[in-house]
Amino acid sequence: MEPSLALRAGVGIVIILVAAFFAAKRGLFLTNLIRSGQPAVGRTSEPATRLEAEATEVLGQRKLLKWTVPGIAHVFVFGGFLILGLTVVEAVVELFIHGFSFPFIGTWPVIRFLEDLFILLVFIGIVIFLIIRLRNKPSDKGRWSRFYGSHTSGAWLVLVMILLVIATLTLYRGAKINLAEYAGDPEAAGMTGGFVSIAASKVLAPLGATANAWLETIGLWLHVGVILGFLLIVLNSKHLHIFTAPINVGTSRRPNALGPLLPMYSDGERLDLEDPADDATYGVGRVEDFTWKGLLDMATCTECGRCQSQCPAWNTEKPLSPKLMMMNLRDHAFTKAPYVMAAQKANDGKNPEFGDVNEEVLARMSDKVQAEVARELVGPRDFDPLRETDGYDASGHRSHEGPVIDTDALWSCTTCGACVNQCPVDIEHIDHFVDMRRHQVMIQTEFPTELNGLFKNLENKGNPWGMNANLRNAWIEEVDFPVRVFGADGEDKIPDDVEYLFWVGCAGAYEDRAKATTKAVAELLYTAGVEFMVLGDGETCTGDAARRAGNEPLFYMQAVQNVEVLNEVGAKKIVVTCPHCMNTLGREYPEFGGNYEVVHYSQLLHSLVYENRLVPVNRVDDTVTYHDPCYLGRHNQVYTPPRVLLESLPGANLVEMERSGEKSFCCGAGGARMWMEETLGTRVNQNRADEAIGTGAGKVAVACPFCSVMLNDGVTVRKQEGAAQDVEVVDLAALMLESVRTPGSPTDGAGSGDPEPAQA
Ligand code: SF4
Ligand code: SF4
Repeated sequence: MEPSLALRAGVGIVIILVAAFFAAKRGLFLTNLIRSGQPAVGRTSEPATRLEAEATEVLGQRKLLKWTVPGIAHVFVFGGFLILGLTVVEAVVELFIHGFSFPFIGTWPVIRFLEDLFILLVFIGIVIFLIIRLRNKPSDKGRWSRFYGSHTSGAWLVLVMILLVIATLTLYRGAKINLAEYAGDPEAAGMTGGFVSIAASKVLAPLGATANAWLETIGLWLHVGVILGFLLIVLNSKHLHIFTAPINVGTSRRPNALGPLLPMYSDGERLDLEDPADDATYGVGRVEDFTWKGLLDMATCTECGRCQSQCPAWNTEKPLSPKLMMMNLRDHAFTKAPYVMAAQKANDGKNPEFGDVNEEVLARMSDKVQAEVARELVGPRDFDPLRETDGYDASGHRSHEGPVIDTDALWSCTTCGACVNQCPVDIEHIDHFVDMRRHQVMIQTEFPTELNGLFKNLENKGNPWGMNANLRNAWIEEVDFPVRVFGADGEDKIPDDVEYLFWVGCAGAYEDRAKATTKAVAELLYTAGVEFMVLGDGETCTGDAARRAGNEPLFYMQAVQNVEVLNEVGAKKIVVTCPHCMNTLGREYPEFGGNYEVVHYSQLLHSLVYENRLVPVNRVDDTVTYHDPCYLGRHNQVYTPPRVLLESLPGANLVEMERSGEKSFCCGAGGARMWMEETLGTRVNQNRADEAIGTGAGKVAVACPFCSVMLNDGVTVRKQEGAAQDVEVVDLAALMLESVRTPGSPTDGAGSGDPEPAQA
């Protein structure tokens, strides 16, 4: 006896209704959860760039393909989801209409061929994923596996489910071909071109007509059942990204969440730091303070571990993994959600402070939710760097006790941007970490004690070193060529003949090695005939470190003051030596009304060499490796000019470190880490210095005063240990000057008084 259409449809309806009920319930929960977040500003502006992101990142899989093998495997599976979408609809309708296929295209051999091609490619993709997971098992590699702490069993289940999707599809289509064959009308199956299905039919043919009839129906039930089961698994796991990633990418910061930090918002309005509202929120102190985009980020994390694998903190055995941070926040948000949503409902949609209403609401919640509500968002967790990482034991199992985010993890971030750059679904880690730091600093006054010195020096002296402002011009006395200082001749505006305002920066004025760079850049500009002027004691710190340390009011104070001065003097074009100054002046000050064209000195020198206004002639005759500063490279996309400059030096042989360009490894100083002790794990600067030394280069070129300090220190340690000898850390400008300065040049015999590059 063969299965009737009524039986086939009846079972089909039951499967669909059960799955639809649970899927709708979960979908509603997720939608309400994301909607419970605070307003996020500007997430639909620039629709053209958002469409482009959808085209390149979602459809084109651009970021996934940065990792070739897993990227290609993902393209196969993703392509399968798109192409095989047709077969899913067909299968559901076939439960009710025997032999259904889409009109016109459904039986087109090209479509059938494509569908079956993707059955094959999805299979290959899944095999690649299986191999990758087997070779990167957290149980074998511990924290060095990018899947450490991820839900690995869930991932295995999903891989098996995808295999079952294509297996059941092939089964029912193979049997369907045979049924048409037995009926004497092979074309009726409409499977011409479906080479995988045809091959399956050949295997099933000997079983006979009745068996194939049952196989077609059972295969169809299984296929629809597996797909619906898969849907429920997706909605309840990290594979939720299948639905949320396109939305997350489409609403992410454009062009990316690097460079400028976001200002502080409270309830969707820019926080007025001079006159804040009584009920203003300051940063993120509870998970419900995140915006809906923050919650969407959490829901979208695929747990792929690409961010973790690149993170300098994680790679030097700190408790910070950007992936685990997102996962911890997600687990917390999801568990606490019933309370947050109920409390908001009882308070007209607003996040209530803890009070009578909340206590009432809380009393109705389960023990699990109540325990989650009681957890602090940020606080010290028990942490043993040798055994545990932020509540994860050696095999990656998590503890849900104690604060959600470990204090040490939060303060380990250098804001290097590697995580944001790598994340295939555009998660904005740095924004979230800085928002949590803001709350810790401004409300809890809980931050590493070393930052007290930084904050005090910035407040009192306008620079992190606490030096006197009148020493900002000290470097000028050490050079023997004229340097124009604003106001020295009584001017109240930058004169028209001045092309660039040279923003010296605090390091460039006070720190010895950075001072050498300042002098070298000034001499190169003078040699090339570029008219420039400095502000002298009119400069004050840009506030980069204060902002990244979460002290937004201090940053605000610095920014307002600097913008006022710069606008007053009529600054238009600014050249800097420090990438942090470049980022702040050029990309953060526009929000304060400061709009300037800001270039890093490597960009300006690059133009001057191109225009033959600077000609490197002296031979360098050495191998040089270049360390990309995070705030020049990843945050501001300046990768080429420093390399072109190095290649222009006669005799210089440029070799790249393995982690270079957008994959460059941080020096350890960003995110205000320059001003904090590094007591956990190994040292970031040492890790990078070892990599640079490992290239065999005689010179390690840097283009940032903080990188210079960090790498010099790292190389010095290895020299003292006897592990490195003939290697020196040199600033790009010093190298250029060495090669440009000739007996005939304007500063010959005089110059900066420091023609040698900074020595390690
Ligand atoms: S910004 Fe850098 S240090 Fe911070 S979490 Fe991301 S990768 Fe790690
Ligand atoms: S790279 Fe993005 S998606 Fe992958 S684990 Fe990190 S945060 Fe999650």
